[in-house]
Amino acid sequence: MTNIRNDELFILLQIPSLFMRIAIIGGGAAGFFAACRAKLLQPSCQVVLLESGSKVLSKVRISGGGRCNVTHACFDPKELSIYYPRGGKELRQAFSRFMTGDTMAWFEDRGVPLKTESDGRIFPVSDNSASIVNCLLDEARQLGVEVQLNAMVDSLDVLPGGFQLSIRGSNVLQVDRVLIATGGHPKLSGFDWLAKLGHSIIPPVPSLFTFNVPGQRLKDLMGVSVNPVSVTLPDLQLTTQGPLLITHWGFSGPAILKSSSLAARELATCQYTFKVVIDWLNEVTFSNALEQLQGFRKQRTSARVFNGPSFNLPRRLWEFLVHRATIRDGINWSDLRKEELERLANTLTADVYQVAGKTTFKEEFVTCGGISLKEVDFKTMESKVVPGLYFAGEVLDIDAVTGGFNFQAAWTTGYLAGSAMVVDKLSD
Ligand SMILES: Cc1cc2nc3c(=O)[nH]c(=O)nc-3n(C[C@H](O)[C@H](O)[C@H](O)COP(=O)(O)OP(=O)(O)OC[C@H]3O[C@@H](n4cnc5c(N)ncnc54)[C@H](O)[C@@H]3O)c2cc1C
Repeated sequence: MTNIRNDELFILLQIPSLFMRIAIIGGGAAGFFAACRAKLLQPSCQVVLLESGSKVLSKVRISGGGRCNVTHACFDPKELSIYYPRGGKELRQAFSRFMTGDTMAWFEDRGVPLKTESDGRIFPVSDNSASIVNCLLDEARQLGVEVQLNAMVDSLDVLPGGFQLSIRGSNVLQVDRVLIATGGHPKLSGFDWLAKLGHSIIPPVPSLFTFNVPGQRLKDLMGVSVNPVSVTLPDLQLTTQGPLLITHWGFSGPAILKSSSLAARELATCQYTFKVVIDWLNEVTFSNALEQLQGFRKQRTSARVFNGPSFNLPRRLWEFLVHRATIRDGINWSDLRKEELERLANTLTADVYQVAGKTTFKEEFVTCGGISLKEVDFKTMESKVVPGLYFAGEVLDIDAVTGGFNFQAAWTTGYLAGSAMVVDKLSD
């Protein structure tokens, strides 16, 4: 047995019930992490992991484009919490108990070497999510976690001192403690069985999506990327920065995904119809851009405006933006009128598009909303409404921007719940 610290050993000695029965509902990242943790700390307890599907860890398998962006190279709990538009405040405390570095050590100690990419994302060296999936499966098997597939839990009833679970098309199960790790659900009705227990549900809406911008000319720019740009949602006074990618349906890339995450709820309310303003030069003001354009007019005199890409923008994008600023075709720099220079400076720094709809980002998407965080103790992940009931992962109203943060929330909350379920009281 590995990885039991002295303080945990002390806790274990205090446990009254060595043969506790624990049900973990949901065989995803959070459920597996919690199951392994509970079984490691208390091998004599019975841990049953119930998964509604025919396979476990499905999202881990497809995550990060099949590579699994397991966590992020940010090692300060306060700084890390900033990446979570929902749950950051609560997670800060949880991160001080189980952080990104702990996640790395967990996998590396179990034979999965990890690597950090230049943007801070951490992947298995194998670039294959199977390394992470197999590690979790092996660990669960070795520790003796019982995994039941095709076991959809339909309802959960509170009994004196325990719980009764109904598994669809099968038997009922009586246990002492239950962890809900069922992930996000797109519909509010998907949370009905949890609401029945007295928990408040924050209505779910999607997060991490790309913006649909109709128009053939933009479509022609498919594949063009600019790094960095500023993306502003003027109605929400929200600005994000980072790389932007033009796709055949509109805008994608980290700057867009970040704003979709920060404004997930507001954008759902306006049914994904809103204005977005792109500053292609990122933080260059209108007057600065105008000054530089005036400089080009002096230096480039007989060169065609259309032909010479400027400001390090890709050629195709430059041509598109010159057209968009309605600059006359074939005109030389020296012939540009003042108002044309101003129009171009404006297009470069405050280019307005109408967004009409969203598209799911296939690499990573999550649900904003879920179990209200006010009703969960983040030291233990235990419900404040139903003692003995615990929550971990995306079922909670927690979600983050892209970069490995969503898995980190699942590992941290799973770890805390797995630890707390097998003890009566955690030390502070
Ligand atoms: C395509 C894609 C790629 C992603 N890539 C990344 C990435 O690279 N990095 C990152 O940090 N995040 C990524 N994410 C987000 C990340 O996958 C999730 O945040 C994370 O999987 C949440 O883990 P979880 O255990 O809470 O939930 P899940 O992984 O959703 O697991 C929940 C499990 O519970 C089961 N279940 C649900 N209801 C019941 C029930 N009633 N009874 C029994 N079982 C039930 C489900 O079948 C499921 O297997 C990605 C998401 C997607 C969709």
